Amino acid sequence: MASITPVTTAEGALSWRPVRDAVIVGIALAFALLTLYSVFVDQGALLAPILGQLSFDQNFIHEFTHDARHLAGAPCH
Ligand SMILES: [Zn+2]
Repeated sequence: MASITPVTTAEGALSWRPVRDAVIVGIALAFALLTLYSVFVDQGALLAPILGQLSFDQNFIHEFTHDARHLAGAPCH
């Protein structure tokens, strides 16, 4: 199993590449989960801190991702 710590290269230099790769994977995973949540689950909660009750009433993200939701076969109405 790969370690998520800086490694010493053959030339003796310290390489942060394993740490950088782990950070990139973590950010990509978080973005993917946020995208899946916004497309398949969100009913206004994501924008509620910004828009308040209007976010639940208008359901902007649900309407924006509506076609993607149906294309993926997820039930929504
Ligand atoms: Zn629908």
